[in-house]
Amino acid sequence: MSDAIRERLRPELAALHAYETPAAPARIRVDGNESPWALPAEARARIAEAMASIALHRYPDPRCTALRAALSGYVGAKPDELVIGVGSDEVISILETAIARPREGRAHAVVMHPDPSFSMYGIIGRGHGHAVVKVPLDERWDLDADVWSRAIGEHRPSLIFLPSPNNPTSNRFDERVVRRIVEQAHDALVVLDDAYVEFSSGTISHALFEQHDNVAVLGTLSKIGLAALRVGWVRVKPWLAHELEKVRLTYNIPTPSQEIATLALGPLMPILREQIALVRAERSKLIAGLDAIPGIAVDPSDSNFALVRVGSRAVEIAARMHAAGVQVRTFAGHPRLAERVRITVGTPEENHIVLAALADAMRGAA
Ligand code: PMP
Repeated sequence: MSDAIRERLRPELAALHAYETPAAPARIRVDGNESPWALPAEARARIAEAMASIALHRYPDPRCTALRAALSGYVGAKPDELVIGVGSDEVISILETAIARPREGRAHAVVMHPDPSFSMYGIIGRGHGHAVVKVPLDERWDLDADVWSRAIGEHRPSLIFLPSPNNPTSNRFDERVVRRIVEQAHDALVVLDDAYVEFSSGTISHALFEQHDNVAVLGTLSKIGLAALRVGWVRVKPWLAHELEKVRLTYNIPTPSQEIATLALGPLMPILREQIALVRAERSKLIAGLDAIPGIAVDPSDSNFALVRVGSRAVEIAARMHAAGVQVRTFAGHPRLAERVRITVGTPEENHIVLAALADAMRGAA
């Protein structure tokens, strides 16, 4: 019987792998690009008080009215430009559900993204039956203008994802090339993914949004201390928000997430800003510490993590670190990342332990 149901599955699923998350989390988790800081007691008390009066017997506000107002202030967008999702993952899914009509003469709509980059763009794209085209980054992990120009001309994408700073390479892309891609792909939606923008030395995403009809800006609360809420959004033109709303699940953001996120973006915002500043300060120290470990190469980072070249024994090194209570991210399946691990900035105490565990693991694996 199950064979009959298997026959009913989308054929694309056979070639897909679910996004992998660790089975046995270690004591120090620096693999997920989350914030290392919990909220202080007084902020938690304020949240607990708000939670005590929520209407658990009612569906959440489908329009996220209060959260939308708070987000529109935070992002600098009009409320009707925002589509809010269960993390930016869901927003990516909403975009790939709606923007799906194949271009003239083609069997599939094309989703394009840099490589290496965030794997969910492709996982969601293939799950929707789109063709996914990965455009290789240059040797400095930047966008190569000529390679992109050829790829856009050849593949005629419907949707392009450009995260800057990029995950997992940690760098910002050359703004001139981002602008060129937006201009050349004027008949595709170019989604500028600002997931790590709070840690970046700058961004032109919203300037490009103002100047071009084909730009969307993606954002999330996950990296700035609120990963548990699962709140993300995209800023698009109001007419497109209206269309995307047709495929958003009506009650997608639970009331606790709406209420806590609204508090966080309002009275708790100074605490979050302080935590972001701490991450940025700790990042410099972490990178200096990594640089001092023999056999390691680390690039400058504009995000809340570092991509670290540890050599061909990356998986073994990560396993040794795990045994020492530290969880980092590996990329064994990716040809250009196989020698690297990704390390999220932790608290000062955590970073100290991470550096010692990495130095030990390097010596052990030598
Ligand atoms: N975009 C990028 C570039 C990311 O790295 C991530 C998370 N790793 C996301 C989007 C998704 O974040 P979330 O679903 O938590 O908003």
